[in-house]
Amino acid sequence: MSSGAIHNCTPIIHLYVHIPFCARICPYCAFYKERADSSQTQRFCEALLCELDERCTRLRVEPKTIFIGGGTPTALTTSQLEYLLGGFRDRLDLSAMREWTVEANPGSVSPGKAELLRSLGVNRISLGVQSWEEELLELLGREHNAAQADASFHILRDAGFTNVNIDLMFGLPGQTLAQWEATLKKTIALGPEHISAYCLTYEEGTEFFARQARREFREDTDSDARFLERAMVRLESAGFEHYEISNYARDGYASSHNGGYWAGEDYLGIGPSAFSTVGLERYQNVSDYRSYSDLVLAGGSPIGSTEALTAEIKRGERIALSLRTVRGIPSVELNRWPNQRREFEELGLLREVEGNCVLTRRGKLLADSVAEAFI
Ligand code: SF4
Repeated sequence: MSSGAIHNCTPIIHLYVHIPFCARICPYCAFYKERADSSQTQRFCEALLCELDERCTRLRVEPKTIFIGGGTPTALTTSQLEYLLGGFRDRLDLSAMREWTVEANPGSVSPGKAELLRSLGVNRISLGVQSWEEELLELLGREHNAAQADASFHILRDAGFTNVNIDLMFGLPGQTLAQWEATLKKTIALGPEHISAYCLTYEEGTEFFARQARREFREDTDSDARFLERAMVRLESAGFEHYEISNYARDGYASSHNGGYWAGEDYLGIGPSAFSTVGLERYQNVSDYRSYSDLVLAGGSPIGSTEALTAEIKRGERIALSLRTVRGIPSVELNRWPNQRREFEELGLLREVEGNCVLTRRGKLLADSVAEAFI
């Protein structure tokens, strides 16, 4: 396999694996995904392990975190998950592992799959609930209903998972603050360790984007800010730390994998459409999973595009991502923009805490605009 110059002696401690299969395609989703074709999925799993083998000949891969996302990893059968995750265990030194996450959708969680994942070392599940309102789940085209989401959470607990994230969405067409309050309340009552709350974005190429262009849906940033503010108030008063714009965690449960991305650490991504960043090189695998499998299994490289990064690009990314976190960015990193910094401080959007610049509560509502001024 010729995959270009990606040698690096520093161990890669974050591994991402993309499983592109979904039982149903949600009309707002811009990730690379396809309806699962059971005649292809086993071959695809073989290709993933083959890519991992090849990467391991060039890179020191010693994961402290693994994130298996998609798509819907739990769309694979129990035996395929066993084959794949067992393959990772056979190939990788997992002695330093601290967080192994698998994304799951309530429609495809079963006691058998949950127990298998737990027995193979997975210690964190991210459950795509999105809402507890049936009409909003329908609007989002989700395959599950609220009762299935509730049952899935309990299946995960019964299987021994003590670190569960629940994904939620706000800013949905027609969603009311009262509905959002009810969703937050129900989620808090379930007692997960982590909650991710994402604002809907209209991504080009999706059905929702087309509906927005036809003015069936309307983006409303003021309303989005009210939803975010309500989430901050409710979740913080329930004991969650708002440690990144979209993420809330109980003490000790912040995501280490995402923390690595936000800190600008290197990561290896395998599978179709997955990105990797190693040193000053970023590359992305081809998206179509059939082409991906063909290439990898024939001994070729799945890399579809490569981008040379500069220290300046990486610094800009680190500022934008760090500013979204509770720790913020060391103040010295913003010394080049004294006027912008002073202006944001005077507007009450930014403040200095122990040598770091962090967003205030108001600043969090305008995080992207603040970050843009510094890159
Ligand atoms: S289940 Fe997730 S990955 Fe699949 S289409 Fe829906 S949002 Fe996208």
